[in-house]
Amino acid sequence: MPSNAPAANQRASEPAASEAWVIGVDIGGTKVAAGLVNRRTGAISNPVRVPMSARVDAAAGLAAVTSAIDALFAQSSDARSASQAIGICAPGPLDPAAGVVLNPPNLPCWRDFPLAAELERKYHVPVKLDNDANAAALAETLWGAGRGHRTVFYVTIGTGIGTGIVFDGQIYHGRTGSAAEGGHITIDYDGLPCACGKRGCIETLAAGPAIARLARARLTDQPDSQSMILALAAGNLDVITSELVGQAYAAGDPIAQQVLQSVVCFLSVWLGNIIDLLEPDVIIMGGGVSTMLKPLFPEITKRLPTCCVNQRCQEIPLLAACFGADVGIAGGAALCVPALHTQ
Ligand SMILES: [Zn+2]
Repeated sequence: MPSNAPAANQRASEPAASEAWVIGVDIGGTKVAAGLVNRRTGAISNPVRVPMSARVDAAAGLAAVTSAIDALFAQSSDARSASQAIGICAPGPLDPAAGVVLNPPNLPCWRDFPLAAELERKYHVPVKLDNDANAAALAETLWGAGRGHRTVFYVTIGTGIGTGIVFDGQIYHGRTGSAAEGGHITIDYDGLPCACGKRGCIETLAAGPAIARLARARLTDQPDSQSMILALAAGNLDVITSELVGQAYAAGDPIAQQVLQSVVCFLSVWLGNIIDLLEPDVIIMGGGVSTMLKPLFPEITKRLPTCCVNQRCQEIPLLAACFGADVGIAGGAALCVPALHTQ
């Protein structure tokens, strides 16, 4: 979690019924997290977490979600009456306009499942649904690092790369809700296959598994390097992770520095393309790998003029996300908040 998290990421005190709260729900392949979110500040109260039943059937998946929401209500006597809406972020693909989960690989319990309608029927409040990165982009725009900006490009880097675009306080969805898949922009058309079916997507070059792969390749090429990465992995190349590379980098390990320089190069090329296409007011980077790369953000900005034609590209702030592990709860809640905070 970023160390510079502002008020938006601090836990709030018990909500008063008179305050306007919304419920944010974060559905993943293994867990459902939910919390009350102050619609003015983004502060999260009473977060709960329950296991997700992603592989049984549609009813079991829905029951996991409702158990998280019901646990939230059970924690606070005011929660039910004070909560005016429920916002859900879930893995895509999904149809945000219809509130339907389509066919996410890590939620096999749901195929064309009308999640928003099912929850509206149970709780009698409006329910919004969007994918993780879109929802996180909106939360950062309303309450986090993107506050006050009209056009925001958000990226989360972890095991994959997700992106979201916010224009004038609204998520940009495209024609069918499938826009902003920036993690699958191809950087190397002849590169490694990506899980999406394309080749050489930025996700195959700069997400966590790619960083581990790059480290393994360098260590194989330089067997006498005595790299700290190998020491941290107890000599086993197979257990190297991006986290271990990050630890070694922080300690000044030369191989880790080489690996992360490569990642910086790939990200600079990618963000140069993004800037030439969108020219956002701000670029916000979230997720565990982004936290690890934060000391290298100035290096990315320094490289940008060689990666895009925009002559003022270096004026665009490259900022660490404010929300950490709770971003899914905040993102879900943000879906329920109109664009009040951008002018
Ligand atoms: Zn891809």
